[in-house]
Amino acid sequence: MRSSGIVRKIDKHGKITIPSELRKLLNIQYGDFIDITKEGNTILLNKYERKCIICGSDNDLLEYRRGFICLDCVEDISDLICTNRL
Ligand SMILES: [Zn+2]
Repeated sequence: MRSSGIVRKIDKHGKITIPSELRKLLNIQYGDFIDITKEGNTILLNKYERKCIICGSDNDLLEYRRGFICLDCVEDISDLICTNRL
């Protein structure tokens, strides 16, 4: 992987600052959550968005495993299961 040329020093608490240009570009704002993933020797930072893993809605979300499903999709799945059992 090629270096971006952006280098930050980790402070004594393990914190770094994401450059404002990148925050603006990726619409990362104060209070947003960041998903941190390790891949080999690389750390990936992704904006963590609470949205339904099926339809993308951000309304009436239920946490499911490591993601979210909205109530509408839960009802659709429930109807589908009930229909197929008849
Ligand atoms: Zn949904």
